[in-house]
Amino acid sequence: MTIHESARDINVRASVDVLVVGGGPSGFMAAYAAARKGNHKVMLLESRGYLGGNLTIGLPILAFLGPKGNQIIKGEPQKFIDRLKARGAATDHYPCKLHKSFTMVDGEEVKNVCAEMMEEAGVEVLMYVFCCGVLKDGDKVQGVIIESKCGREAILAKTVIDCTGDGDVAFRAGVECHKGDAEGGMQPPTLMYQMRGVDVQALRDAIVQHPDVYDMDNMPHSQFTRRHFITVGLRNQILKAREAGLDIPVSRTILITGLQPDEIWVNMVRVSGTDSTDPASYTRCEITAHKQIKVLNEYLRRFVPGFENAHMEIVSPFTGIRESRVIVGKYVLTADDIVSMRKFDDAVVVAGYPVDIHHSKGGDCTMIFTEDAYDIPYRVLVPEKIEGLLVAGRCSSMTHEAMAGTRVMSTCMALGEAAGSAARIALEDGVLPSQVDVQKVRTDLLENGVYLG
Ligand SMILES: Cc1cc2nc3c(=O)[nH]c(=O)nc-3n(C[C@H](O)[C@H](O)[C@H](O)COP(=O)(O)OP(=O)(O)OC[C@H]3O[C@@H](n4cnc5c(N)ncnc54)[C@H](O)[C@@H]3O)c2cc1C
Repeated sequence: MTIHESARDINVRASVDVLVVGGGPSGFMAAYAAARKGNHKVMLLESRGYLGGNLTIGLPILAFLGPKGNQIIKGEPQKFIDRLKARGAATDHYPCKLHKSFTMVDGEEVKNVCAEMMEEAGVEVLMYVFCCGVLKDGDKVQGVIIESKCGREAILAKTVIDCTGDGDVAFRAGVECHKGDAEGGMQPPTLMYQMRGVDVQALRDAIVQHPDVYDMDNMPHSQFTRRHFITVGLRNQILKAREAGLDIPVSRTILITGLQPDEIWVNMVRVSGTDSTDPASYTRCEITAHKQIKVLNEYLRRFVPGFENAHMEIVSPFTGIRESRVIVGKYVLTADDIVSMRKFDDAVVVAGYPVDIHHSKGGDCTMIFTEDAYDIPYRVLVPEKIEGLLVAGRCSSMTHEAMAGTRVMSTCMALGEAAGSAARIALEDGVLPSQVDVQKVRTDLLENGVYLG
């Protein structure tokens, strides 16, 4: 059934040069890069009450370093880490055989640093607004419609950058979008949570001294002698727990050491079959995720050394979404491009994270490694038909398999920086983002320290 919603006049809240929708890793970087020369009016919209998106939920940032161990994500994302490090809120980039590298950050300081960066660059931030519509003239996006406690309002913009993760702006603008694999299966979401009071040394000792019992996937046990580590394994313990009747939704125990010595972040909730673009599905996911945590805590306390006296301290405010919509852009990046390390003349990001597909039906994961880093071309940010719009982050133009490699936050921040830089240069040159001189964008990125191979 449908009903007719009558047309009405709405307030125009703002008119800007560049409007970024979504303040996660790609969004705050896009806004900063668009604004950093100070010659454009830039606005950032965010539906939550803070910036940072998944950077705030206890996840390590993966793959600042590439498969050969050299740093490949630099530029503004590295400057962001430097800002965090200056206040003791980020670690070094630790090499890791499985993840190439991991960098832990303090989610609360992420929120502060993101806000300070926006203030510094003169970006106007508007939180608690949901982008629910797009204004178009023919095929050219002219701005968006937002919904908030004020009701519906319009924001006009010369260029819009969609960093919503779900491609909300692109979808509403009529850009062709896809979800998941050939059957529509998407990587399952996870509700991250933090345990404190963990005897991390006991966990470390168990893994290092008894590798036959406490197995790890593809990671030498020497990796666990360091202060910071990520476990991906303990498959034997999960089998034992299942035999004991615990319903564990995942085959591997993924634990991440936090910035405090007794802190561990748990990445083990899996709610298969969730579609975050359907609120009923996302609601079921949230409720299931909280139920899973109870079982997982029992598993950790009974089967994983070091958790005997641990308690749950923080549950992230939302279940994180690994995959939903991706757009069809001027180029669709494929797993073959990644694995063959294909070079592109219009590369704006060089990334190094392997293809890492958490199976849509739950349980395990498929990883496809590359020998070296790979290029991501500018055209993945540019929708095929709609003008005045760029799409950065995990919803850029990639296949299901390719986005399983490019979705990590180091790469998403770099994609955001590239989109912001391109939007700024297109405006300076009086052209649409689809017509921007990509060599100028590359030069701009290189001048800001970005690594392009
Ligand atoms: C459970 C989980 C584990 C992961 N593990 C890792 C890991 O260990 N390391 C790693 O590097 N990466 C990891 N990833 C991947 C990574 O976190 C994401 O792919 C990445 O954060 C995507 O960045 P983004 O900017 O595209 O989107 P998001 O981080 O999703 O940010 C989107 C932002 O847009 C806002 N928004 C959305 N829709 C609207 C709207 N309509 N209007 C206004 N605002 C809106 C959201 O509130 C959010 O702040 C993981 C992801 C998940 C879910």
